[in-house]
Amino acid sequence: MQAIKFSCPYFGDEEAKAASDVVKSQWVVGGAKLQELEKRFAVMSNTIAGIGVSSWTTGAFLVLKALGIGPGDEVIVPSLTFIASVNVILHAGATPVFADIDPHTWNIDPADIERKITAKTKLILPVDQIGLPCDIQGIQKIAKKHGIMVVQDAACSFASAVDGKPVGAHSDITIFSLHARKIVTTGEGGMIVVKDADLAERLKRLRHQGMSLSDFDRRDASPTHFENYPEVGYNFRLTDIQAAIGLCQLDRLNDIMQRRQRIAERYQTFFSKHPWIKLPTVPKNVKTNWQTYQIQLKDNAPISRNELMDTLFKKNIPTRRGVMASHLEKPYLSYQAKLPITEHVAATTLQLPMHPALTDEQQQYIFDIFITLPLSPL
Ligand SMILES: *Cc1c(COP(=O)(O)O)cnc(C)c1O
Repeated sequence: MQAIKFSCPYFGDEEAKAASDVVKSQWVVGGAKLQELEKRFAVMSNTIAGIGVSSWTTGAFLVLKALGIGPGDEVIVPSLTFIASVNVILHAGATPVFADIDPHTWNIDPADIERKITAKTKLILPVDQIGLPCDIQGIQKIAKKHGIMVVQDAACSFASAVDGKPVGAHSDITIFSLHARKIVTTGEGGMIVVKDADLAERLKRLRHQGMSLSDFDRRDASPTHFENYPEVGYNFRLTDIQAAIGLCQLDRLNDIMQRRQRIAERYQTFFSKHPWIKLPTVPKNVKTNWQTYQIQLKDNAPISRNELMDTLFKKNIPTRRGVMASHLEKPYLSYQAKLPITEHVAATTLQLPMHPALTDEQQQYIFDIFITLPLSPL
C-alpha cells in the first residue's frame, strides 16, 4: 500500500499541458485564460463577476479596502478559523471582534454575532469552515436588520451549497481560495465573486495598481490611448498559467466532488458506530464539498486528542489538529476573548486524510487502526 497522504491536489496531464500551453503562447498574465476562469466561477457561484487574485488573503484585503473598512471599524469574525480570516481585518486597520461557534457545525453562531454587534460594527466576515457552509441566511437576516455588510469567507467551500444554491448565491461578496489544500487549486490563488458590476470593475482595477485599462483592453487599443490611475491600487494579480490550471480543475470538479463524497460517506458510516467519536454535522439544507474531514473526541474518550494523533502518526496515518482558535495565538491574546465552545472544539478535534485519490485500501487501513484503539466499536 502506498503511503497515506493527508491532503493532495488532484491534478492530471491536462493541468500540466494547459500550463505549458500558456507558457508557449507567451501571454502569461492578464489574458484570455484569466477572463475565462473568472466567468466560469461567476456562473458556478450564481454571481455576475469573478475577480481572480493572488490568494484569498489578498482578495479579502482588497475587498475590505474597497468597502472602506478601516481604523475605528469593528468586524465580527469567528475565532475558529484559519488565522488569515482574522489577520486581514488587522491589515485593513480595523478591529476583529470574535464570535463563538455552533457546537455541531463548528461554524459561527448567528446568535453570538448579534450579541457582539456595537455602534462600530461595519462588517460580518462569516467563514464556511472545513467546506461546510455557515448559516449564511441567518447571518444575512441579522446584517440586514442592523445595516451591516457581509463578506463570506468561502476559502474552503467552493461548490458547496445551501438550499440548493451554490455558495456565492447568498452573499453580495464571496471569496474563494485556490490554495493547494482547497477543493480546486491553482497552487496559490483566490477568486472574489460579486453581484455588482461596478464593484467588480473597481476590484479589477484595484488588483492592478488602480489602472483604468486592463492588459486585455490595452493590447488592442491605440498606443496613444493612455491608461489612468484614479485611485491607489495593489498588485494582487493571478497569472494566466494559474488560470489555465484552474480551468482544468473546474473540468474535473464533478469527479473531485464524487470521490470526496464517497470517502466521506465511508468515514461517516464507520464513525457513526463509534462510542467516543463525534461526526461532523451536515444540516439538511446544506451540501458540503468535504474539503476537510474533521472529527471530535467526545467527553468519554479514553485517550486525549493529542494521544490519538500521536498513535495514528506512529501507524503512518497523517492527521492535523482541528481548525485553530485564532484568539489563542499571540497577536490576539490581548483581546481577552472568552469563547468556551471555540476553545473546547479546538482542543478536541482532529482532521483525517481526505483527498480525491485516497484509496479504499488506505481508508480500510485507517479503520483497522481505529479498531485496535481502546473501547473500539467492532
Ligand atoms: C485557506 C484559508 C484562507 C486563506 O487562503 P489563502 O488563499 O491561503 O490566502 C482563509 N480562510 C480560510 C477559512 C481558509 O481555510
